Amino acid sequence: MARGIEFKTREQMRVMARSGVITSKALAAATAAAVPGATTAQVDAAARAVIEAEGATSNFLGYHGFPAVSCVSVNEEVVHGIPGDRVIQEGDVVSIDCGAIVDGWHSDSAVTVIAGEARGGQDIHLVERTRASLWAGIAALATAQRLDEVSAAIEDVADEAGLFPLLGYVGHGIGTAMHQAPDVMNYRTRGRQPKVKAGMCLAIEPMLVTGTSESDVLADDWTVVSADGSRAAHWEHSIAVHEDGIWVLTAPDGGAAELAAFGVTPVAP
Ligand code: MG
Ligand code: MG
Repeated sequence: MARGIEFKTREQMRVMARSGVITSKALAAATAAAVPGATTAQVDAAARAVIEAEGATSNFLGYHGFPAVSCVSVNEEVVHGIPGDRVIQEGDVVSIDCGAIVDGWHSDSAVTVIAGEARGGQDIHLVERTRASLWAGIAALATAQRLDEVSAAIEDVADEAGLFPLLGYVGHGIGTAMHQAPDVMNYRTRGRQPKVKAGMCLAIEPMLVTGTSESDVLADDWTVVSADGSRAAHWEHSIAVHEDGIWVLTAPDGGAAELAAFGVTPVAP
């Protein structure tokens, strides 16, 4: 089901890469602000300052009424946390999701960090293995015939780590809108996923939880929490697929450092 996929030219991908680099800078600033004692609103403010200074626009702010430029999700919150006056505590697992628009082209990326000293090895394992599942998925995309291979790569890392992909939450196409076709699943599904073709830009975003695949949405209608209160992590990059390879749009080096371990060399669009 390749219907509705927006295929990009390499020139359009280059604009998306500019957008992606701004998102990566915003995330770096937000990460630096995610320290014990800071509020999640302060984390968001750090991201906002970068987006504004770079002359980009936020694609989160106002999205279905969302009130911030980032989602900040703490501990059992998996995704879509609303920045506010919650104070980050030592050892909190903090997921930050952010994006930007440049000349109409979107980027979307997320990281999870541990504020201050980790509470224990289990949290480090959660964050690191979720990150590893993202890069395994990106590496799979470089040679995949179909998106099923990306989903399988993510699920395999999660399985081996004893972590659970959150059910019902997926990655997506990205381009002139933040969320486009196709869905990019974080686990194997019945039926075949679309073929991987040059011109696709995709946001791959594994959301892994320590204790369950099930989730609930809080009364704010945004925040997604694990159903059993166990901790979660979320990593995301936006990636371009073109005739000569892939390029991670939201990594300043296109993903070169991380993909080397997989024998994949990213190629700029
Ligand atoms: Mg995102
Ligand atoms: Mg996304």
